[in-house]
Amino acid sequence: MDEKWQFATRAVQTGYTPGNGAPRITPIVQSTTFKYDDAQSVADLFDLKTPGFFYSRLANPTVEVLEKKIAALEGGVAAVAVSSGQTASALAILNVCTCGGHVVASAGLYGGTTALFGNTLKKMGVEVSFVPPAAKRETVLAACRDNTRAIFTETLSNPALVVADLEEFAAAANQIRVPLIVDNTFPSPFLCNPFEFGAAIVTHSSTKYLDGHATSVGGVVVEKGDFDWSSGKFPEFTEPDESYHGLIYTKNFAASPFSAKMRAQWIRDLGVPMSPFNAFLTQMGVETLHLRMPRHCQNALALAEYLAKHPKVGYVKYPFLPGDSQYELAKKYLRGGSGVLSFGVKGGKEAGKTVLNSLKLAAIAVHVADLRTCALHPASTTHRQLSDAELTAAGVAPDLIRVSVGLEDIVDIIADFEQALSRV
Ligand code: PLP
Repeated sequence: MDEKWQFATRAVQTGYTPGNGAPRITPIVQSTTFKYDDAQSVADLFDLKTPGFFYSRLANPTVEVLEKKIAALEGGVAAVAVSSGQTASALAILNVCTCGGHVVASAGLYGGTTALFGNTLKKMGVEVSFVPPAAKRETVLAACRDNTRAIFTETLSNPALVVADLEEFAAAANQIRVPLIVDNTFPSPFLCNPFEFGAAIVTHSSTKYLDGHATSVGGVVVEKGDFDWSSGKFPEFTEPDESYHGLIYTKNFAASPFSAKMRAQWIRDLGVPMSPFNAFLTQMGVETLHLRMPRHCQNALALAEYLAKHPKVGYVKYPFLPGDSQYELAKKYLRGGSGVLSFGVKGGKEAGKTVLNSLKLAAIAVHVADLRTCALHPASTTHRQLSDAELTAAGVAPDLIRVSVGLEDIVDIIADFEQALSRV
C-alpha cells in the first residue's frame, strides 16, 4: 500500500496485489490446509518464526486480504478477522482482561454486547461496570478500579444513536494506562477513525456496513500499534507465553503484539476465525464503502428531516439532524450520521407497531447497515433480553422504531413512510 493513498484508493486497492498472470480479483482460498515440501518449514510456521499459512483456523490468504484492507482504512498496524461482531467484542476484551479483571463500558451498547458483558463475561469472572454513553472523563475514572484492564464504548450507539465523547473516554484510559476499545460498527472507518481520538483497539461487526449487502456475519479487531503494554498490568504481553514455546508478544511481535496474541491464543484455542468465503464477500463490500456511505447518510438525513416535520411523529433521533442532542458531538467525531435513525410515533408503542406493520418497501428485519431499507422495534427484538432499567440506560424507549435507511431512491423511501404513517 502507498501510505499517501486516499480512503477510496485504499478501499479498492489494498489487501491484494496480483502478480503477473494471477487472478485480477481476490481469490477465494477455500482450503483448510496448505502443502509444504519439508517438515522444518511447517515447524517454523507452527512456532510463528516465519510468516505464512498452515491451517485456516489461524490464518487464511483470503481472510488476510480483508484484514489488511480494514487495518489500512482504520489506520492500524494489524487486524484480525473473526466469526462475528460478538466474537470481536468478546476477544478484544478477553485478550486484555480475564478472570479477576474489570472493564468499564458504556451503557449505550448493542443489546448483544450488553448481554455478553453483563452476563457471560461475569460468569467468566470478568466484571463490567457501565457508565452513561455520554460520560466525561471523571465519570469514567470514578468507575475504574485497580483491576480495570480496558475501557469500552461504541462510537455511535445502537440503537439510541448517542455519540460517545471519545476523547473523554480516551483521557480516562490514558490516565490509568489501559486500552480504550471502540466498537466502530455504525460509522464504519469511512465516517470515523477512533484511533485519531485516542482509541488503542477498534472492533467491528463487519456484518454491517463493511459487508454492506447483508450476506456475511463477521467481525474484525484492529490494533493501532502504539499502546504501551509494559505498565505491569499486562504480564501476558511482556512475559513468556508457555502455551507458545515461551514467546513474548511484545518482543517477538513488537509491531502488533495485541493481534499476534489474539490470533495465537484466542483464535487458536476457541476456533473462531472468519470463513474465507465470508471474507471474500466482505472485502468486496469494503471496496465500495466510500460510495455507499455518503448515500446512506444522505438518504437517512432526508428521511429524518421528513419525519421531524410529520405531525404524527413524536420524536426523531439522528445525530446529523440540526437540533439533535448529539449534533455537536457528531460534528466533532463523525464525517456523517450513518444510515441509521430512530423515531417514535405519537400514540406510543401500539401506533408504532401499526406503522411498522404497514411499511411495504422497508422490511421488518433484524439488521442494520445494508443496502435495503429495513426497520425494527428494538425493545421487543434485539434488546429483548434487557431489563427495563438496562433499556433506559441504553436509551431504548419502549416505542422507539429503528430504521436502517438503504440505498433505494429517497423519493420511494419517504413515500413508504408516508403511506405507513397515514394508517395511524
Ligand atoms: N456491535 C454492534 C454495534 C452491533 O450493532 C452488532 C450487531 O448488531 C454487534 C456488535 C454484533 O455483531 P454480529 O451480529 O456480527 O455478531
